[in-house]
Amino acid sequence: MIGYMDKDKYINKDGNNMYIAKHFIIEELVDPETYRTRGDKAWELLDERMLITLDKLRERYGSITVNSWKWGGDRKWSGLRTPASPWYSTYSQHSHGKAADCIIKNYTAEEVRQDILADPDHDDFKLINSIELDVGWLHFDVRNCNRIKAFKP
Ligand SMILES: [Zn+2]
Repeated sequence: MIGYMDKDKYINKDGNNMYIAKHFIIEELVDPETYRTRGDKAWELLDERMLITLDKLRERYGSITVNSWKWGGDRKWSGLRTPASPWYSTYSQHSHGKAADCIIKNYTAEEVRQDILADPDHDDFKLINSIELDVGWLHFDVRNCNRIKAFKP
């Protein structure tokens, strides 16, 4: 289906092919305690398909907020969720580093969802397997499912 495993494209500054997001720092994708405990190793907790998609969405739509705690904001569980989160759920895609809740500065979540659903196999969207409907943010995830699964909260 999807040839995302062409990782040779992703050689980073250290010369390995681990995917590090181009447009996000790790603090935007994990909570403060995970960052304090794991530092840059927290990248290993996040599915590379989710990271690749975040970069593609950022390049397509412009500014995107996931977590904002690094700059004093209140969002810290919009990427990875650990059991310390009040919204933790064992089987949530957030618990497995496969989901992000995005606030897109220049578009509403509904505009972006309609854009994705209109052309789900576009290169920018091809790794998205599921989106959440009827919420004020863009939740996408890379779960194993019959894509694109669109679910209501
Ligand atoms: Zn979510």
